[in-house]
Amino acid sequence: MNYACPHCGVNLRFKGPIRRPYPGECKFLPTRTYFLCRACETVIVPNGHSVEGSKVIMLPMLIVFAMLQPEFWRWIPATAKNSVAVGLSIIFVACVAYFCWQFHSQTKTWPRWRVANEQELVQLNLKPD
Ligand SMILES: [Zn+2]
Repeated sequence: MNYACPHCGVNLRFKGPIRRPYPGECKFLPTRTYFLCRACETVIVPNGHSVEGSKVIMLPMLIVFAMLQPEFWRWIPATAKNSVAVGLSIIFVACVAYFCWQFHSQTKTWPRWRVANEQELVQLNLKPD
């Protein structure tokens, strides 16, 4: 992931951008905030990658929730319980590993931030329309 500011190129990975409340929001614990670059104060917005919205991570979560339910184990024969537990654990690890690999390989050079467009600036009352 490339954490550089899209306008000036300063790395925002560790300190991150400045967070400001939306116009009209309470200064203390606002519900909506926007981001400014620390160096050039350009309004920037998070640039999400499609992998971040991926549903691949749902299957391992479903497996964990199923395995935590006593009802799930009730309808599995006693002799097969160990193999089912091992099988589901392998599927769980494979799904998580696949997700991590996909995330790591596809977002290596992906920019974390992009400059806010006209519509987003108008929404913030930062630019007269
Ligand atoms: Zn900047």
